[in-house]
Order: sequence, then C-alpha cells, then structure tokens
Amino acid sequence: MKNKQNKNGEKSLNSQAINVTKTYLPNKEKYISYIDEIYKTGWVTNYSPLVQKLEKRLAEYLDVKNIVLVSNGTMALNIAYKLLNLKDEIITTPFSFIATSSSLKWSGLSPIFADINLDNFNISPEKIEERITNKTSAILPVHVFGNACDIEKIQEIAINYNLPVIYDASHAFNIIYNNQNILNYGNISTISFHATKLFHTIEGGALIINDDELAKKARLMINFGIKGPERIEEVGINGKMNEFEAAMGLCMLDEVQKIMEQRKLIYNKYKEKLKAHVILQKLNQNATYNYSYFPILLKNEESTLKVQKALNKKNIFPRRYFYPSLDTINLLNEKRDCFVSQDISKRILCLPIHSSLDDSLINLCINTIIESI
Ligand SMILES: *Cc1c(COP(=O)(O)O)cnc(C)c1O
Repeated sequence: MKNKQNKNGEKSLNSQAINVTKTYLPNKEKYISYIDEIYKTGWVTNYSPLVQKLEKRLAEYLDVKNIVLVSNGTMALNIAYKLLNLKDEIITTPFSFIATSSSLKWSGLSPIFADINLDNFNISPEKIEERITNKTSAILPVHVFGNACDIEKIQEIAINYNLPVIYDASHAFNIIYNNQNILNYGNISTISFHATKLFHTIEGGALIINDDELAKKARLMINFGIKGPERIEEVGINGKMNEFEAAMGLCMLDEVQKIMEQRKLIYNKYKEKLKAHVILQKLNQNATYNYSYFPILLKNEESTLKVQKALNKKNIFPRRYFYPSLDTINLLNEKRDCFVSQDISKRILCLPIHSSLDDSLINLCINTIIESI
C-alpha cells in the first residue's frame, strides 16, 4: 500500500508500524562472503578466526587496550562482577534497562539505588556517596542513552572509598570523553551488541578491561575456566561469542559511521522542531554523542500517555524508556525512594530513531507530538 502525502509533505497514514529501533542489516553480499569463509574453515565458535578478527578491529576502532567479546551484554555484566569478586551491596542507578539490576540479583548481589539527576538522567554522584556503607563493594553507573556520566566525580568517590567502578556502557558505543574512548574509564566497562543497539552482532557484548591480568582471567572465565586440555583454572561459564555473530559485527563496523551520521540528521531534526515544546536530555559537554536515542520529557504522566496514544494512532510506537523506575520493582528492592527517577520514568518517551525513517515520517511524528501536547 502506498502512503498518501498531504501538502505538508507528511504522511497521513503509514502502513508499517514504526518502532523506536529497527535492526540494521548491513550489506548482504559482504555478510555472505564471511559465511563462505566460515564454511571453508568449519570453525564456528570457541574463539574462532572472525571473533579474533572482530576483537582486533574493535580494539583499534575504539582505541581500547583489552576487549573481550562475549555472548551478550548481560553476560558481560555478570562476568565483570565475578572478575572483581563483588559481594553484598552494589550502588547503581534506578533509571536503566532491567538487565543492569537484575544481573546483580542473578549474581547474588543487592542493587542499592542512588537517585539520578533531573537534567541528564544519569546517576547522581552525591547520591552515590550517601548510599555507601561498609557492605558496599562497587559502583555500577550507566551512561544512559549514551550520555556520559560525570566520570571525574564518580572516580573521586571511588578513590576516596576504595571502591571499583563498573560502567554499564551498553548505550555508549563510539563516545569520546575528554579525548579518550569512554569505554576506557572505570575498572571495567561493559557494552551490549544486541540487535537493537547502534552497533550490533545480533546478540553479543564485550568487556573492556584496563588491567591485563583481569582481562586474561575474563578470557578463561568465558570458556568454562579451561586453561588447557587437561587444566581448569577458574570456575567459569560459557560466555562466548560465535563466528556468525562476529561476521555480523565485522559488516556492521564498516557501516557504523554512516549509520551514526544518518541518526544524527534525524536527531537534529527532532531537536530543532521539538525543543520549544518538550524537555530534552542535557548532554555532557565533555563528551561526544552517538545519536542512539531521542528521549523527550513531557510535563506529567497524563500528557505523556496522551502523546503516546496520539502517536500510536498514527502507527508510531515510542517506548517508555525507562519505565518503571527500577527502585519500584519489588523483586529488586524494598525501598522506593528514588523520586527523581520515578518522576522522570513517568514522563519520558523515546522516539523512533533509525536510518530507515524518512522525512515525512519524522515530520508526522513531530507534528503529532506538538498537536497532542
Ligand atoms: C541492552 C542493555 C543491556 C543488556 O544487553 P544484552 O546484550 O541485551 O544482554 C544491559 N544494560 C543496558 C543499559 C542495556 O541497554
């Protein structure tokens, strides 16, 4: 069915549901040529050639010392906790994807929520400090929507209290913070390469580890702790990325710059037309941005649901990222005292942002929002 356009160049109805993300599929011929290679080597997993190649290319591209590719971003977090021998309480943000906190629970740790800042949606360093007890064993901030945390302040607290920092940098592919890739900060940074993320390997993720010995240990851990044919050196798990996923990553890496530029155009269009009508996330000026998300903040929950409904009617499906605030989930936590996060969660919407959106769809989205506010 062809979409009709009105005089504003805007689609009156679009036949396809528009979601926040759409998996980017890179050049098919190139992917097939990698698959041909896999069929030749017959090596499909267990630190296979394309996994090694992707690791090397990513280390160069991101300018990081040690990157360990794993099966997904949640696995990367769980490995990080084991590597640092964490126990008891971990201070983290209530405003994130569920995996940040549920992975802690999964590993037998307690998420302790420190509230976020109203303007940038990231964990507040002051609130981190308030939550530190003698049971705290680490700090786990998230660069929410790719917006860099206040790394200096967090580092200062970490040093003062002698606590390791793990950054859940799942949204932070290709971000430069003070002239360094953001993944270099913290004792460990983890990232997700899930199909919905800016750079993906279908399923996948990575740990970025500054300490060489810890990186070695991570490599053992993701392969059952197997050191040699007859030697087990760690209690490990199966956390490996496979060859087909690495092939996807190699193809994506060739196109990711282009993808980011396409998203930047959409981001700037949204920003230009919407900034007078909604509140936007305040971005960290010490960091670059990757245009992976476009969150808008409405004045209250009622208005948010109204905008969501109006967009749904036009077949556009923004997401309430991140709702609910994780401190309100009984399975994770008994206290419910992150009031800024609860407030933001109730009035935030992430708009569709992916390279297949054309101007008329973006305009339809913008105009629908403005009309329904
Ligand atoms: C996507 C995501 C994860 C989980 O990554 P997977 O690769 O899906 O396991 C963890 N934390 C955050 C903040 C995420 O957005």
